[in-house]
Amino acid sequence: METNSITELVTQVEAASHALFDRQTQFLADIIAIRSYTGQETPAVHRTLKELKAIGCEETWIDTAGNALGKIGHGSKLILYDAHLDTNEVADENEWPHPPLQPTIENGAMWGLGASDCKGGVAAIVYGAAILKALHLEGDFTLVVMGATLEEDAEGFALRSLIERDGVHPDVVLLAEATDLSLRRGQRGRCEIRVQTKGKAAHASQPHLGESALLKMLPVMQALESMNPNLPENPIFGKGNQVISLIQGPHTPNSVPSWCEVTIDRRMVPGETMGSILNGIRAVVEPLGATALIPDQVVKTHTGQRLDGPSFYPGWLLEENHPLISTGFETCQALWGKAPKLDVWQFSTDGTYSAGVAGIPTLGFGPEEEKYVHAANDQVNLEKLRKAAEFYALFPVIFDRS
Ligand SMILES: [Zn+2]
Repeated sequence: METNSITELVTQVEAASHALFDRQTQFLADIIAIRSYTGQETPAVHRTLKELKAIGCEETWIDTAGNALGKIGHGSKLILYDAHLDTNEVADENEWPHPPLQPTIENGAMWGLGASDCKGGVAAIVYGAAILKALHLEGDFTLVVMGATLEEDAEGFALRSLIERDGVHPDVVLLAEATDLSLRRGQRGRCEIRVQTKGKAAHASQPHLGESALLKMLPVMQALESMNPNLPENPIFGKGNQVISLIQGPHTPNSVPSWCEVTIDRRMVPGETMGSILNGIRAVVEPLGATALIPDQVVKTHTGQRLDGPSFYPGWLLEENHPLISTGFETCQALWGKAPKLDVWQFSTDGTYSAGVAGIPTLGFGPEEEKYVHAANDQVNLEKLRKAAEFYALFPVIFDRS
């Protein structure tokens, strides 16, 4: 496509984003008003499906994991837009300046639960697709828009199900989590490790007959803590860390405890694997008589499926000169005449599966701002919401061209 026609196209995309803005805003308000805690996304999924039909998706469906999906086009390259519908739970409603489920527009922003994580992203990708459809922009690409489930509790599990169970294989994935209209190319990973010591139960009045698993755990905990300065390091993400976050044992105050278990929250840099993590920890705790494992996380979809899997969420980093990043830069440049910032996320996303496990090039771009995520002043700026839809409309055209 000529430079001229891109300029023309940008003008059309901008006009369409304005023409569709009221509908986009209404859709965002509608999904904010629907409570959709993780595993309880049914009404939000149905509302999103209705919107995907209304904007002209050629096919809409709910997959095994209960994600809302819409498809546009028939080209050979599959582009997946992912933004999740589930939100974290409100801790104290009294802290909220506006009731969390009553979307309110104030100071040019829509306020409400999930506005910045990640319902603003859902409204951005759905309306990016709407603009694409309205302008009949076609190419050798197929676009799948996904209102994802389960992200807050088990990021990547619903995306894994779409790809591995339902056989949808995207060439690239775009995540509409908070980036404030800039680009993200990676994240730290996280995992859970459980370390256990075994002892021998005895009545607390005769401790010499038993063996305390709790006392055995003390040097283990010290050894785990002292691993911190030597954990793997990465020039972009810095050093990994681990925190002993829970301790458990039998709930019998009048006995010598026969077992003790600590849970470790470990933050990882890209490249660390389940094997490398467990080997490192076992080398430290096994000589002290303890065992270590990465537990399975119980994951239940709103459609009643069990998607249990290891509580392991690898980090990832897309190389700086990857064509997907160039396409993101070109799209922003064409729309707004300047290069976006390129950074990495502090938090974990569905990219832990797409990029971290499946190795699919993954890029983050969203209208939301990180400072409002999981906060009582949760909000998304509406002008940024409109602009994000422009990005998501133009991206496939630039992608197809490059
Ligand atoms: Zn999120």
